[in-house]
Amino acid sequence: MGDKILEFVHSSKGKMLFQALGLPVPPQLKRAKGAYEDKSLSGVNALVGASEPGKSVEAVVKALDAMGASLRVSADLAGLEGVKAAAAKAKVEVSLSQADNGVPEGAYVFDVTGAKSAADLRALYDFFHPRLRKVPANSRIVVISRVKGDTKSVEQETAQAALPGFIRSLAKESGGNGTTANLIQVKTGAEGAIEGALRFFLSPHSAFVTGQVLPVVGAPKGVKAAAFSAKPLTGKIAVVTGAARGIGASIAEVLAREGATVIGVDRPADESTLGATMANIGGVVCPLDITEADAGKKLAAVAKEKGGAIDIIVHNAGITRDKMLRNMKPHLWDMVLDVNLGSIVRCNEQLLAIDGFAPNARIVCISSIGGIAGNAGQTNYAATKSAVIGYVDAMAHELAGKGIAINAIAPGFIETQMTAAIPVVTREVARRLSSLSQGGLPVDIAEAVTFMASPLAAGVNGATLRVCGQNLVGA
Ligand code: NAD
Repeated sequence: MGDKILEFVHSSKGKMLFQALGLPVPPQLKRAKGAYEDKSLSGVNALVGASEPGKSVEAVVKALDAMGASLRVSADLAGLEGVKAAAAKAKVEVSLSQADNGVPEGAYVFDVTGAKSAADLRALYDFFHPRLRKVPANSRIVVISRVKGDTKSVEQETAQAALPGFIRSLAKESGGNGTTANLIQVKTGAEGAIEGALRFFLSPHSAFVTGQVLPVVGAPKGVKAAAFSAKPLTGKIAVVTGAARGIGASIAEVLAREGATVIGVDRPADESTLGATMANIGGVVCPLDITEADAGKKLAAVAKEKGGAIDIIVHNAGITRDKMLRNMKPHLWDMVLDVNLGSIVRCNEQLLAIDGFAPNARIVCISSIGGIAGNAGQTNYAATKSAVIGYVDAMAHELAGKGIAINAIAPGFIETQMTAAIPVVTREVARRLSSLSQGGLPVDIAEAVTFMASPLAAGVNGATLRVCGQNLVGA
């Protein structure tokens, strides 16, 4: 397991060889070393722009200030007045920055929610164009736009619809040095939840997330976007299925890092591996095949023993049984459909029926870019992973009324036993064909799941976020 080429490239011999051959060197991503910190942007220059003053840029300015960033507005570019007005209102200091003054920024945030026409989009060009030759390695770019339908005219809707294409292209241009570029689409009235999403996208916790669009639509009933607190999952009970190894084990570790008590679930045959994983994080070992008819009820009972209802459930357990559809035996179809999809739906239904979820619970399902792009030999698997995306979308509205949020994470190529089994050439292509030219690590998925499970994502519901280094498969 592991990416030997990436290791070699970053050795001194490897770097020389790659440079001599003129081959692109995959960037060394800067990942988080520990839990979320309040002043996560302390020492970072953040350039902010806005196409016009308004609530959303006010929220951006306040959030960056709360994170400890040094705020800058561009002396020579558009967006100056909008930011200055927001900063004056929030009593936050901003300094002027020249594109060529030799002190580059590490974070770039442009609020384009005010753009009402194609002509207004010129502000984006003016903001980014003079800076892009000097973006430091592992920088963060975030654009804020409106969610689909949250506009007053066709012209405005059309202008806002430009942003996904813009950000996906900018991410492809910027990934060479580990820089990420993502779009937050904010609904009018949900501006208070921008800070949480910014904390994720502007931090090393999102090192493998780039070229993505995240709608911030507002919190479920009774949930308020709260100010940052360290270890926000303290006192929460989190169930993780498939937690013995791979991505699930990493999810369990990162949830525990942020304070959660984790109940790790895996097949009874994997109890000893699960035990070792849980021992490291003080978690609870729950040997259970999640396809059992009453698995949801059993999980509720285990959570009750630990003192309460389930605050977080991560439906991570998943299997592949690859065969071309023409050669696939019916039991392989049924097995994959039941583990990856049927068990999730059944479990949630049972938990909802018996009040097994705590108020304001958060459900996170694991999809896959295979469910978006499709894969020869994976009709069964891709059907389930595509269905998961539809499921979270369909359930979000109903659950929001109960105070519960449901979202999905769609991993790309991640270095695990599942991907180690892929034939070597296919594996190498899948790894490199991305904006960051490498596969992700289980911790990259764990970080995104933990974001979705935490109050940082209070305004996110019904969304699927791809964590794939902007893999071209499924782009
Ligand atoms: P993995 O095979 O390493 O781990 C999956 C875990 O789920 C195992 O511990 C397994 O025992 C457990 N499991 C399987 N069936 C179960 C059942 N019936 N009851 C309880 N536990 C069960 O896989 P992984 O690579 O860590 O994948 C985790 C999730 O991420 C899966 O849903 C997978 O589809 C998804 N995913 C992975 C990748 C990747 O690149 N590895 C890409 C996209 C999506």
